Amino acid sequence: MEKKVIIITGASRGIGKEIAKQLAEEGNIIIANYNKSEEQAKQLKKELEEKGKEIEIYKADVSKEEECKKIVEYTIKKYKKIDVLINNAGIDKLQLIIDVTKKDWDNIINTNLYGAFCMSQQAAKNMIQNKNGKIINISSIWGQIGASMEVVYSISKAGIDGLTKALAKELGPSGIQVNSIAPGFIQTEMNTDFSKEEIDNIKEEIPLQKLGESADIAKCIKWLIDDSYVTGQVISINGGWSIT
Ligand code: NAP
Repeated sequence: MEKKVIIITGASRGIGKEIAKQLAEEGNIIIANYNKSEEQAKQLKKELEEKGKEIEIYKADVSKEEECKKIVEYTIKKYKKIDVLINNAGIDKLQLIIDVTKKDWDNIINTNLYGAFCMSQQAAKNMIQNKNGKIINISSIWGQIGASMEVVYSISKAGIDGLTKALAKELGPSGIQVNSIAPGFIQTEMNTDFSKEEIDNIKEEIPLQKLGESADIAKCIKWLIDDSYVTGQVISINGGWSIT
């Protein structure tokens, strides 16, 4: 089977790193984007190359148009195609709405929402030509049901789900599938602000009584990459936390 060329944004840590590992293990060519965590990205590359897997790491700040363009141009120049784009890079900040500054808004919206939009826009040009491609956006439970003290983050993720649905309609006729995955609480550095007591309380609220793992998200990504008829969906992976 021909190897798939897969760009993953924010692959230096957390969920993105696990996705990179699992997709590399399957024999795909991984372009793992990072921004600040260079050492961790280098470590990931070393670890996978020692196992004979194909991975490149690429520094780019996805909140900036020029940097999104560069990573896509680099990939197409070298590999001629992009089979899968996974928009995973994201940031959060816990704060009351009355404390949110314009800078906070710009940071979160530009990274989480504009980054996914811009990467999709750049990659879509190649996917449309190839009449083939998959875009998978990592959204959040908070885009669906809203989170107190995470207003801007919730807005960015609701925007991601809008992007997913609109793009699925626009790109479907070109053979491109676009979906969102909306995780619940996954144990990564993004959640280091929570105390043990807060985490125990959260576990009690979740019907399955446990937090998710990055591997749960990677499993769904592999399934979406295999699939040929699901598009425009927001897939919840949250232990039942969003059941109303
Ligand atoms: P994480 O451990 O904090 O990792 C975030 C990743 O995003 C890092 O690799 C980071 O790269 C990258 N990133 C941040 N800003 C970037 C930028 N401007 N350009 C490129 N990369 C950037 O977070 P995570 O928990 O793995 O989250 C991954 C995704 O899942 C995010 O979209 C998040 O919103 C979503 N999510 C997470 C949870 C959860 O409970 N953890 C729940 C729902 C949704 P550098 O360190 O190299 O800058």
